[in-house]
Amino acid sequence: SQPSEQYDVLVIGGGPGGYVAAIRAAQLGFKTACCESNPYDDPKGEPRLGGTCLNVGCIPSKALLHTSHLFELAAHDFSAQGIEVGAPKIDVPKMIARKDAIVTQLTQGIKGLFRKNKVTLLPGHGRFVGREGDTWRVAVGEKTVAATHVIVATGSKARHLPNIPVDNQVICDNVGALKLQAVPKKLAIIGAGVIGLEMGSVWRRLGSEVTILEAAPQFLAAADPEIAKEAQKLLTKQGLSFAFGVTIDSAEVEGDGVLIRYRTADGAEQRLAADRLIVSVGRVPNTDGLDADKVGLTVNERGQIVVDDHCRTNLPNVWAIGDVVRGPMLAHKAMEEGVMVAERIAGQAGHVNYDAIPWVIYTEPEIAWVGKTETELKAAGVDYRAGKIPFLANGRALGMGAGYGFVKMLADAKTDRILGVHIIGPNASELIAEAVVALEFAAAAEDLARICHAHPTLSEVVHEAALAVDKRPLHF
Ligand code: FAD
Repeated sequence: SQPSEQYDVLVIGGGPGGYVAAIRAAQLGFKTACCESNPYDDPKGEPRLGGTCLNVGCIPSKALLHTSHLFELAAHDFSAQGIEVGAPKIDVPKMIARKDAIVTQLTQGIKGLFRKNKVTLLPGHGRFVGREGDTWRVAVGEKTVAATHVIVATGSKARHLPNIPVDNQVICDNVGALKLQAVPKKLAIIGAGVIGLEMGSVWRRLGSEVTILEAAPQFLAAADPEIAKEAQKLLTKQGLSFAFGVTIDSAEVEGDGVLIRYRTADGAEQRLAADRLIVSVGRVPNTDGLDADKVGLTVNERGQIVVDDHCRTNLPNVWAIGDVVRGPMLAHKAMEEGVMVAERIAGQAGHVNYDAIPWVIYTEPEIAWVGKTETELKAAGVDYRAGKIPFLANGRALGMGAGYGFVKMLADAKTDRILGVHIIGPNASELIAEAVVALEFAAAAEDLARICHAHPTLSEVVHEAALAVDKRPLHF
């Protein structure tokens, strides 16, 4: 069919990568549309923007982490500060409804941003039809539109395991895990990655007995080993139970619950009965139904669209960003790529520094890092100095009842340039921003050491870690 509309830029997918790319392209003066096929429930049946992140990822998980954190403080920490409230009770449907209201507010907010920036929202599934002259044809739902540039931002979905049917009632992926209507007495989780740890923390705080089964032999292999060790110690102390090096044989719904059969690292067969199971074993890029092969768009064996450092695909004027391409599956990485691509289309020098993307795990304590780990520096033969300061030495952390964890800074032994900053402790997700700025500006540890940090703040621990690189901490 003949295209009914013509755009300079068409974005396929309205997640954090896609909606940011669309807004930035429109800001740069391009006639821009964004199509969204939207599998998420919407009360009005309208397409919901925000993708995985807003609907079933970052935002709802952080809302539940906050509620469950308050519950845990009320249950266990208030009395130590002289506050007597009795044993708290959790109203799970109310907690979930609050989370849903936040999600709705934010997804509606993106529609407002589209209107403000004059981005056209096209409801419907996008797929490639072909190219005529310099113009791409893309089917969106029932109609075909034409666009000079196409940005694929179709994101990812939960990876499932063979023989483990996810019904999002008893056996859940992230979608079901974020809308449980009662606290499961026993909760099993397959996968000790970020999502497994965050979901395990939520339900453990609310009273579940949580067992996390992990295929890898060790905990958080991507993190700095000292951080991983401290995290495992603290999370185990909180009551999360871990088994590493396991092989899952099956999980079947039995009665109201689920029976999981698995083998431990030494081959012993085990059974675990639970009320609910969460499968969090990674995510797969969404390229199904894009008709990538019809136009010759290169997709690798992992299902990722192949791109260069500037998110160019093998096809002219077709770009791909976010979870559907290589690199960390993080919302802020997707957004940065969206901005970069829109600016490249405008002939500007849009750029993403893949060496300065922060990682955060929103457990309590939070875990955050940027740059290289000690393992990576050793493997690369880099000579470095480390400064490590515990939150126990910080007055603000003690006042908050959060005197645990540490900041570790790694700097080049010769040039003093900061190579990595690793934090486990209170508000690590916010503290890491200073380290990201330092890395982006190629700061030396000495630069941070000579910057005045407000007292008393948690940021003083980052300051002291910088001083500790030069073996001159003042408060430890
Ligand atoms: P997505 O957010 O997946 O969006 C893609 C969109 O494209 C979807 O809305 C989909 O419906 C649409 N779409 C797909 N195919 C088509 C098509 N053919 N036509 C039209 N529309 C289509 N990241 C963080 O940085 N911080 C966190 O705290 C965090 N927490 C998370 C917690 C959980 C439980 C999960 C699951 C993920 C979390 N993430 C977090 C990861 C984050 O959600 C993703 O990295 C991010 O959403 C990727 O953005 P994206 O735009 O690439 O894709």
